[in-house]
Amino acid sequence: MMEQLFSEKVALVTGAGSGIGEATALLYAKHGAKVIVSDINVEHGNSVVEKIRKNGGDAQFVACDVSKAEECEKLVNETIKHYGRLDYACNNAGIGGEAAPVGDMSIGGWDKVIAINLSSVFYCMKYQLPAILKNGGGAIVNMASILGQVGFPHSAGYSAAKHGVVGLTQTAGAEYSSQGVRINAVGPGFIDTPLLQQMDKAAKAMLVSKHPIGRLGKAEEVAELVIWLSSDKASFVTGSYYPVDGAYLSI
Ligand code: NAP
Repeated sequence: MMEQLFSEKVALVTGAGSGIGEATALLYAKHGAKVIVSDINVEHGNSVVEKIRKNGGDAQFVACDVSKAEECEKLVNETIKHYGRLDYACNNAGIGGEAAPVGDMSIGGWDKVIAINLSSVFYCMKYQLPAILKNGGGAIVNMASILGQVGFPHSAGYSAAKHGVVGLTQTAGAEYSSQGVRINAVGPGFIDTPLLQQMDKAAKAMLVSKHPIGRLGKAEEVAELVIWLSSDKASFVTGSYYPVDGAYLSI
């Protein structure tokens, strides 16, 4: 029997219709949380809710485009309306964004990746924090990346956004630490999810070679870190960034 870390608690995951978000939503539910599965993709989000319910869990889908502040506010309001509280949030939704060197990147491509991968995390936390504070505390885990610590050719917008997520997390973590809300960021290496689907075999092999562990990560391996950071086991852990990267950042 799985240890119930989160019974009677409510967890919200954005971008939960696929990949790391899906694995995280499933794992929160396995540990006893009621889960708000949120995504821009209604079909994928609902199918994750079905999976959780089939496993005996409790979940509800709420559609949200995280690049829009008013939708992030509505997402938190819907969470409270449905479950009456919010304890944990994993701000995970994100895109790869336009691939181009800085001089060739379009203004639209830059704006889009900053809106979806960075501004979204501010919008979500802005509305999640008052709700979490009402219960006397909880935890937020923001999805950064190894590219929140280092650059990567043709990914300036993505890397800038993820560096921003780390700075935002450190600042908010310090601001709310004495009020019982722990806020951390995780930095996955390259993880084999639909986000990497458009890559051919050679490009994937190149990525594998950058991970001393000799393979890409799995969504479930990132979810395990999110769950630990959310749980009371991480009670002195806040305002920081944790890679889960098969030693990508070590070489
Ligand atoms: P994924 O499989 O593509 O899942 C991302 C989910 O977010 C999809 O369901 C996607 O919907 C949804 N989404 C896209 N735009 C959205 C928006 N504006 N509002 C709400 N939801 C939106 O990607 P993943 O690999 O699991 O990535 C999840 C997070 O981990 C991202 O923040 C990513 O940057 C980060 N990350 C991933 C890797 C990796 O190698 N995979 C490495 C480091 C960090 P659609 O499918 O309809 O677009």
